[in-house]
Amino acid sequence: DQTLLEVKNLKKHFSLGKGETLKAVDGISFKVLKGETFGVVGESGCGKSTAGRTIIGLYDQTDGEVIFKGKNIHNMNEKERFSFYRNMQMIFQDPYASLNPRSTVREIISEPMEVHGLYPDKKERLERVQELLEDVGLNRDHADRYPHEFSGGQRQRIGIARALALNPEFIIADEPISALDVSVQAQVVNLLKRLQKEKGLTYLFIAHDLSMVKQISSRIAVMYLGHIVELTDSRQLYKEPLHPYTKALLSAIPIPDPDIEDQRERIILEGELPSPVDPPSGCVFRTRCPYAMDTCAAHKPEWQEIETGHYVACHLYNKKYSQGDFSTVAVS
Ligand code: SF4
Ligand code: MG
Repeated sequence: DQTLLEVKNLKKHFSLGKGETLKAVDGISFKVLKGETFGVVGESGCGKSTAGRTIIGLYDQTDGEVIFKGKNIHNMNEKERFSFYRNMQMIFQDPYASLNPRSTVREIISEPMEVHGLYPDKKERLERVQELLEDVGLNRDHADRYPHEFSGGQRQRIGIARALALNPEFIIADEPISALDVSVQAQVVNLLKRLQKEKGLTYLFIAHDLSMVKQISSRIAVMYLGHIVELTDSRQLYKEPLHPYTKALLSAIPIPDPDIEDQRERIILEGELPSPVDPPSGCVFRTRCPYAMDTCAAHKPEWQEIETGHYVACHLYNKKYSQGDFSTVAVS
């Protein structure tokens, strides 16, 4: 079995008081295979960062299961969990906010090693820090500099070095390039790809921009309002998106070659993202969906595998409700 991480019906709700609950993540399921990059994409506020943080244990889950290498993380005791999380690290969106400005690069990268009791010898630890700096394309002599002495792209490299310090197998990258200049985004993506090859890493790559995840992901899950609405391999998602929300996200991406006639069905998203405190009944996308039918308000669409590995939650693909499917009508 190639599964490294399995997420089953994961929920993360936040209580807002006065009986109100924010359903940031409301029952998502997927598997991440060893060595792949699994992309999670959606507008800001769709719950993708919360999902990442819940998987990695920064938040306690409300319900569901996170199974890593066959073990249910939430059944582990404190000690087991602690050593376990050595294997899972996170790269954050903002390379400015995520590095302590008063710590040197050496201190920042050493910290996880100290916490886990690795490389207790100071000289060996510095050696390890310098190695990591080289791994991410920085100068090994920069260990005693401070974050403000580096550019945004370089700071993100420091964040990546810190994530690699414990030799993890699995890294959650939460919009690692969104805060960077366009000119350095490709460099950081290439670095992540190279490190993946060299170190056999598996990534969960979170982004709000489909063109960004496409470059790096083998498979992609599309999230909307705390739910995954479509999941398939990345080529298939671009070639044949099924869910109206995926189509809308893709409509926003220009076709790079002006000579190629663009025959894509365009869906322009109207209206605001509804509040996850009071999500629409039935299909969560129905308030913005141009195809919404009566049944979409009454029933939550089931998760269906349309083709091998291509999943969607939408009544348009459900024979029971779809108005366009007459396969059950007898022709005589
Ligand atoms: Fe649109 Fe209905 Fe499909 Fe939801 S289930 S995406 S409202 S057609
Ligand atoms: Mg986010």
